[in-house]
Amino acid sequence: MTSVEFDASAAAKHRMHANIRRWYQQHGRRLPWRETADPYRVWISEIMLQQTTTVTVVPYFERFLDRFPNVHVLASADQSEVLRLWEGLGYYSRARNLHQAARSIVDQYGGQFPRSVSELMSLPGIGRYTAGAILSFAFDLPAPILEANTRRLFSRLMGLDIDPSSAIGQRQLWGFAEWIAIPSGRRPVMSAGDLNQAVMDLGSAVCRPAAPRCDDCPLVAECVAFRTGRQQQIPVEKVRPQVTAVTEVSVALRRGPQVLLRQRTAAERWTGLWDFVRFEVNDADAGQLSSGGAGPVNQHLPVAWTRTIEEQTGLRVTRASLCEEIRHSVTRYRIRLLCLEALQVTGRLRPGSDYQWFSTGQLTDLPLSKTGRQFATLLLRARQRQDTRG
Ligand code: SF4
Repeated sequence: MTSVEFDASAAAKHRMHANIRRWYQQHGRRLPWRETADPYRVWISEIMLQQTTTVTVVPYFERFLDRFPNVHVLASADQSEVLRLWEGLGYYSRARNLHQAARSIVDQYGGQFPRSVSELMSLPGIGRYTAGAILSFAFDLPAPILEANTRRLFSRLMGLDIDPSSAIGQRQLWGFAEWIAIPSGRRPVMSAGDLNQAVMDLGSAVCRPAAPRCDDCPLVAECVAFRTGRQQQIPVEKVRPQVTAVTEVSVALRRGPQVLLRQRTAAERWTGLWDFVRFEVNDADAGQLSSGGAGPVNQHLPVAWTRTIEEQTGLRVTRASLCEEIRHSVTRYRIRLLCLEALQVTGRLRPGSDYQWFSTGQLTDLPLSKTGRQFATLLLRARQRQDTRG
């Protein structure tokens, strides 16, 4: 433990607020969701910004608001359409929760956002951070926030030398977040919403993970990590879980111009999205496939794959061509995905199967995972080339 302590006096807080305000007036970022105090827009932006960068979010946010301009429209929408507009942002439970929470806000609160942390946190997908963001940004109520950028900033300011995600670390950080969110005098130096935006911007632009810009930091005089030269050691790194390499295949089964998909269930990743026949395979079987070099090769499928496809669908596939190999990561899995187009499909779709036939044109409207969309785009282009030739 360090002997240097953070100064939590009212005078220190007043100084910090004044310095934050000065910095924010010069450097605060202009973003579409900052131009508003509409709790609906604040909520949508905050959910989108979880695990996704600002640059990626901006076009999604604008498209989403165009289609679902208020909580009533979102509540009455079909979940498939919500997922389709979310496609590419990942972490799809966010979209499903948004949709459910919109219904609760309409049903339980008459379409008005509740104004307490506990009521907001009772809604699906709204945690303590999002509740604080809605209360401060939309209603200008002093409410603490803690996300990746403020977590790093606060950890360094207070010299937190334990894992910030541990129970004790979280308690201390939320304590600090509450302390800094409450005005230092009877007349607040800045509004609650601006203060929260400013500390997030500071964490992102100045108190950066690898190279904090302490020389430009308005809080350098208060910062324990700076005074003790431990900016690089704080926040304390958590041991990362080991990455596991996995090989999967995604198989497009065709019936004339149609292709077979099913909607992923609640027990799976990407719940609610549609996908081709997809399963994990072993590397020995995957090694039997030829990549084809210049073009797709008509080749035998490993017996185990034929069996799995038959178990899932009732249909038998013995030959296929490899269209694409995609590498991507999901949580701690690094996935090598082999996208195959079945060349011989025999048998009948098993009655009661959750698979359905869709025209390749319909794939445009179905919500798909990111890799599913890449594969679907490939199939659509191949179909268009065939149509042009035909
Ligand atoms: Fe972060 Fe450096 Fe500012 Fe401390 S002085 S808050 S480490 S940028």
